[in-house]
Amino acid sequence: MSPPLDSCPALVLNADFRPLSYFPLSLWSWQDTVKAVFLDRVNIISVYDRVVRSPTAEIRIPSVISLKEYIPATRRPAFTRFNVFLRDHFCCQYCGEPFPTQELTFDHVIPRSRGGRTTWDNVVTSCSACNLAKGNRLPHVCGMIPLSPPFQPTVFQLQENGRAFPPNFLHESWRDFLYWDTELDPF
Ligand SMILES: [Zn+2]
Repeated sequence: MSPPLDSCPALVLNADFRPLSYFPLSLWSWQDTVKAVFLDRVNIISVYDRVVRSPTAEIRIPSVISLKEYIPATRRPAFTRFNVFLRDHFCCQYCGEPFPTQELTFDHVIPRSRGGRTTWDNVVTSCSACNLAKGNRLPHVCGMIPLSPPFQPTVFQLQENGRAFPPNFLHESWRDFLYWDTELDPF
C-alpha cells in the first residue's frame, strides 16, 4: 500500500549533504519538492514508493533531496523563545528539570525592574514554578543562580543541540543523512 501524499515529506539536504536544519528537521511538502525538481533546483537522492501524475509527466515522490546551490548558515541565530529553550536543552535553568515547550517560559536573570535587558546573556529557560518563585529578586539575593550562565549561542551550537531531539517520524531513507546523539541501530 502506498503512503498517503501528505505523509510524504522530503528531507532537505544542503549541497554538502547535511540537513539544512536539524531542529526542526528541514522537511518540505511533496508539492514544494516536486516544484523544486521541475525548476531544477534540487537533486533527487531517494524516493518514496509513490507516484504522482500530471497530464504530461509522472514522478516518484522524492524522500530525500539535496540543494544544487549551497546555502551558507547565517552566523547569528535569531533571538527567539524557542532558540533560548534549544540553547538550554529545554531544561529549566533553576531546577534543572526538562519540560515540554508549552510548560516553559523564560526568566530575566537580572529582573527587568532592576535594569536587566532582554538579551541572550540575561535570559534563561525557566519552568513556571521557578519563574514565580524567583519573582523580581536578584540571583544572589534569592539564591537562584542559573545552572549555566546565559550566552549568545552560534547557529552551529543550536544545530548540535537540535540533534539530541529526533522527530517522531523518520523515514528509513533519511537515516543515512542524520546523525542523532542517540545510538545508531545496527541493521
Ligand atoms: Zn524550574
